[in-house]
Amino acid sequence: MKNWDVIITGAGASGLMCAIEAGKRGRRVLVLEQSRKTGNKIRMSGGGRCNFTNYEVGAEHYLSDNRHFCKSALSRFTQWDFLALVQQYEIAFHERDHGQLFCDETAKDILDMLLAECRQAGVEIRTKIDINGIEQTAEHQFSVNTDQGPLTCESLVIATGGLSIPTMGSSPFGYQIAEQFGLAVKPTRAGLVPFTLHADDKQRLSPLSGIAIDSEVSLPGATFRENLLFTHRGLSGPVILQISNYWQPGETLHIDLLPGLDLLDHLKQMQKQHPQQQIKTVLQQLLPKRLIQTFIDEQRLEQPLANSRFEQFEKITAQLKDWQIVPAGTEGYRTAEVTLGGVDTDEISSKTLAAKKVPGLYFVGEVLDVTGWLGGYNFQWAWASGWCAGQYV
Ligand SMILES: Cc1cc2nc3c(=O)[nH]c(=O)nc-3n(C[C@H](O)[C@H](O)[C@H](O)COP(=O)(O)OP(=O)(O)OC[C@H]3O[C@@H](n4cnc5c(N)ncnc54)[C@H](O)[C@@H]3O)c2cc1C
Repeated sequence: MKNWDVIITGAGASGLMCAIEAGKRGRRVLVLEQSRKTGNKIRMSGGGRCNFTNYEVGAEHYLSDNRHFCKSALSRFTQWDFLALVQQYEIAFHERDHGQLFCDETAKDILDMLLAECRQAGVEIRTKIDINGIEQTAEHQFSVNTDQGPLTCESLVIATGGLSIPTMGSSPFGYQIAEQFGLAVKPTRAGLVPFTLHADDKQRLSPLSGIAIDSEVSLPGATFRENLLFTHRGLSGPVILQISNYWQPGETLHIDLLPGLDLLDHLKQMQKQHPQQQIKTVLQQLLPKRLIQTFIDEQRLEQPLANSRFEQFEKITAQLKDWQIVPAGTEGYRTAEVTLGGVDTDEISSKTLAAKKVPGLYFVGEVLDVTGWLGGYNFQWAWASGWCAGQYV
């Protein structure tokens, strides 16, 4: 068949959700996927367990030049709606910190569920297909040229995601189509991504590779508290991925390695109670030995508490509770989970996800300038935006 009601480019999270909803409305839906497999990112997500949504979802968990844009879709297809589907398919799941919901078994359960829903809704999916070009032939009429011949549709949905993990089929296709149709695209950059370090910091911190500790990391306007992981390349772990969304090159990170503890007061108390104890002993009760050795100089560590001056306690406190470091950069799209920026939301209806200037053209998911925090928020945006567009295409 060559003539379709709806063609969706991209068989990822948002494209499949949109296809299901449009199919259920009786629309003849074709999904075109350039990769060999559907749902590559779903498969690899959440360390193979897919953090598919979160108990707490609100606009405050998203970054966009228009913070209000995501509200409409998120309120019409909520985390509870997705959870109901997961429960209907009897997929076992569990909650982790901060309300994050993961599959007990495998991320593939989520993909299989979406594919089963697609089948029931009569959706056709074609993989390993190259789209060579798209033209609008009339209002609500598009011609899609592929390596398997020309196709036409009334509604065209761009669900090709962002640029992260190029080996997984990511492409700038969605941004190029937006530009082709005269829609603005906000500059893109890698998000939810580890930091690399300048050579001197990298060398100094290399003995810490493999250590993970609870930390609070801040930039002006954003603070996160989760695990920080020292790696042989730089800084990673959930707290670093979270703050990376807010970081601009050259900015200093402020890191509290002992969040929730008044270290100055603790050192003073210990001085009173155990004056002969070395500073090292007190700190080693709080943090890994290797970390203390890297941060505090040897001489100071050997000192008994009784001989330590208040200024020394203040210095140690500053070193551990307001460690300041300027990353060299990020690891980029190679390891990023998401792409910040994208198709300007001012160009898109928040209700239908249609391009305001181009009747029949829709954008859903990560290709839009809407990026979630780590924690299931990016999938929830993909499900919600795909679902909403599915009601109108
Ligand atoms: C390693 C990793 C782990 C992640 N873990 C989580 C997690 O646990 N929870 C969470 O919420 N988010 C997670 N994310 C983010 C999440 O995967 C994405 O935000 C989400 O998949 C975006 O959905 P989408 O439909 O917009 O794009 P995608 O799911 O990326 O789908 C886009 C699809 O379009 C296809 N495509 C691209 N170009 C073309 C083209 N020219 N023609 C045809 N098809 C094309 C791609 O192959 C892909 O299948 C993770 C991301 C990564 C990289």
